[in-house]
Amino acid sequence: MEKNSEFHLSYSRITIYDNCPLRYKFIYVDELPTAARSYFSFGNSIHKVLELFYQPEENFITAKTPSLNYLLGLLNEHWISAGYNTEYQEKKAKDEAVQLLTKFYRETIFGFQPAYLVEKSFSFELNGFRIIGRIDRIDQGNDGYSIIDYKTNKILPYFFKKINLLQPIIYYLGAKESLGLNKINSVFMYFVRFNKKVEFNISDEMAEEGKQKILQVGKAIQCNEFSPKPGSACSTCEFKDRCASFQ
Ligand code: SF4
Repeated sequence: MEKNSEFHLSYSRITIYDNCPLRYKFIYVDELPTAARSYFSFGNSIHKVLELFYQPEENFITAKTPSLNYLLGLLNEHWISAGYNTEYQEKKAKDEAVQLLTKFYRETIFGFQPAYLVEKSFSFELNGFRIIGRIDRIDQGNDGYSIIDYKTNKILPYFFKKINLLQPIIYYLGAKESLGLNKINSVFMYFVRFNKKVEFNISDEMAEEGKQKILQVGKAIQCNEFSPKPGSACSTCEFKDRCASFQ
C-alpha cells in the first residue's frame, strides 16, 4: 500500500490501475518519478485559461463579455513550458493553442455565461474508500446543473470504453455527494478543439456500476495486486526498463 498520506482513489488513479496495475505500483506505491509530458502541459495550460475565463467572480462582477485579447492574454500568463524537447516544439504548440482558443472564442462567445463554479474539488467516501476529484466547470440552468469536463484530444472519439464512462460517473457522484448538488441534468465531455460537447445522462444503474468498479479497484490495491498488464499502455510507459513483462 501507499506509504504516506491517506489512501484515496480518483478517476486517473483508477484508469492507471485498470491499464496496468504494475505501472500504478511504480507511480503511487514506489513513488518513482514520472517525466513531464508536453501533452499534459498543453492540456493543463488550456484548462487553466478556461478556468479563469469562466470564473464567476471575474466576469459576473464586471458584467462584461470578455474579449479575445483577454482570453489570449490568459494563455500568455499561464502557459506551461514543461515537457517540450525544443524551443521550436514549444512554439509550435503555443501557436496551436492560440489557434484553438481563437476558434473556441469565435464559436462560443455569443452565448457566453460565466460558470456557477470552476475547478471545484470534491471528496466523498464510498464503503471506506475516499474518492477525490476536481470538476472543470459547473453551469447552473433553470432546472438544474450541468457538469463540464474539458478535453483537448486531437481526435474526436467515436466510441467510449467502459472505463472512460467512469469519469462522468465519478463527477456525477462527487457533485451529488460532496457538493450537495441534487439536480444534475447532464455531464458533458467538451472537446474544445471541435467545440463539441458529448453528453452523458447518468442513470442509477450506471452510477451503481461505477461504484462497483471503484470498489473492485480499491480492494485490489488494498490486497497489493499489482500484476503487469502488457498491452497498449506499454507504448507510453516510462518504466519499460524496470518491467520484465515488457521484454
Ligand atoms: S511496460 Fe507495460 S506491462 Fe510493464 S509496467 Fe509499463 S505498462 Fe505495465
